[in-house]
Amino acid sequence: MSEPVVRIDNVSKVFHQAGLFNRGPGFTAVSNVSLAVTKNSTLGIVGESGSGKSTLLRMVLRLISPSAGRIFINGADIWALRGKSLKAMRREVQPIFQNPASSFNPRHTIRAILLAPLEVHGIGTAAERRERIHTLLRRVGLDPAIETRLPHQLSGGQKQRIAIARAVILGPSLVLADEPTSALDVSVQAQVLKLFSDIKYDFGLTTIFVSHNLAVIREVSDEVAVMRQGEVVEQGTVDQIFDDPQHPYTRELLAAVPVPEIMRNKEREPQS
Ligand code: ADP
Ligand code: MG
Repeated sequence: MSEPVVRIDNVSKVFHQAGLFNRGPGFTAVSNVSLAVTKNSTLGIVGESGSGKSTLLRMVLRLISPSAGRIFINGADIWALRGKSLKAMRREVQPIFQNPASSFNPRHTIRAILLAPLEVHGIGTAAERRERIHTLLRRVGLDPAIETRLPHQLSGGQKQRIAIARAVILGPSLVLADEPTSALDVSVQAQVLKLFSDIKYDFGLTTIFVSHNLAVIREVSDEVAVMRQGEVVEQGTVDQIFDDPQHPYTRELLAAVPVPEIMRNKEREPQS
């Protein structure tokens, strides 16, 4: 098998309370996690609030450093990258967060928000940039005229469509999504998930998708890892995890969700 796009190798994260002279043992948010994501597949990471999902994703995004272990993207140790190769990696790896309002500058128009990555990486002429933005806005189901608006003038669903557009505008190979639909109403959530899946396919993306919502994880994932208190307690294909869970905790999680909830989301074709 070829080298996975992402390889998480025995990664841990221990948080220490700030300002203490005598540092205690600290709090282990992620403990000895090893995972791999193969090209063009989606790894879903599911677990209750506080299980360490976001912390793990933030380490893959290189926003916080692991206390132990290594993370490889396209074969390169992301903490060993410097200069040009670090910039190239940043272009390849794009995030989508739960609350786009907090990752958009509230005073920047949608156009400025989408233009920024193209400018940073020196891509295209002014006309080409405008064209790429308009094409992408249409692709995510928005009228290009929306580009003159500010983030607060958009609905939650529209903002997540912009977040998806921004994530793919540089043609990344890897998109890391942290609860991207959790703040949306259920009907809008289904539309945004459908868009995410279509875009993933069109752009040939490899993705990690973090959610506490089992129905969402079932819909988007090829492989699933179940996290509990910082550890991955079980991993497998989506069918293994949902149809034949082995770990008692996975069974407990599944039992806590009414079956029709999971099935309905799986079977219903979301409107878009
Ligand atoms: P999840 O995304 O699964 O809800 P998180 O990764 O956000 O979980 O958090 C896992 C645990 O780590 C939680 O107990 C949280 O309080 C703790 N934690 C997260 N970030 C920090 C931090 N910067 N400092 C201290 N503790 C943190
Ligand atoms: Mg989280």
